[in-house]
Amino acid sequence: MLYYINMGIKGYEKLSLVDYDLKLSATIFFGGCNFRCPFCHNSSLVLNPNSVQDIPFCEIVEHLKKRRGIIDAVTFTGGEPTLFKELKTYVKQVKELGFLIKLDTNGSNPSVIKNLLDENLLDYIAMDIKNSLTKYPFTCGVQINIENIIKSIEIIMDSNIDYEFRTTLIKEHHLEEDIYDISNLLKGAKKMTLQKYIPSENCIDASLNEVSKEDASKYVSILKKTISDVSLRGY
Ligand code: SF4
Repeated sequence: MLYYINMGIKGYEKLSLVDYDLKLSATIFFGGCNFRCPFCHNSSLVLNPNSVQDIPFCEIVEHLKKRRGIIDAVTFTGGEPTLFKELKTYVKQVKELGFLIKLDTNGSNPSVIKNLLDENLLDYIAMDIKNSLTKYPFTCGVQINIENIIKSIEIIMDSNIDYEFRTTLIKEHHLEEDIYDISNLLKGAKKMTLQKYIPSENCIDASLNEVSKEDASKYVSILKKTISDVSLRGY
């Protein structure tokens, strides 16, 4: 069952060089998330979204109108943007301004992803793969409907747009056997990125550790057996 949360836009980054591959983008951050990943860097957006004031969408639109021809794309991120009821309306408006649209998602709402794709509103999707399916609840911090994760993966892989799956590697969460499971789960996928975890006081659990570069490189080799393009980010 799909549910929405009554949260607004909590952040707006006017220029990002890293959110959209090879493009200049702006980034819109929604408050609230249905996951509690211990390594989450946006803990205030996830745990206390009401402590951050909403940014009116109309102000963002006015700013974006002036950025046409300067930036290429807008990323919708969170928190978890697919939980936000107005997401489609907002994406549509930004798309009509002529920007490419990227969606960052945890994959928990496949029907929202499918609907946006069916209406040709997305140009790029980045979906987090938290861990092997058996360890998903451990790594996303809550009990979830794992079928929704599988459905989102299928929808994204069947789409005709660019996409990326990405995993933040955590020493305490990811073992070699998990990477083999992820490799099977994403068999045939176009692109996968393994991200370095950067410990921070802002994380939900600040006691975690990163995976070494040596192990991360070994995991790339494992994933390359089933996924064409696998890379490290942050290492
Ligand atoms: S899904 Fe993303 S925003 Fe939500 S808790 Fe996990 S890392 Fe944070």
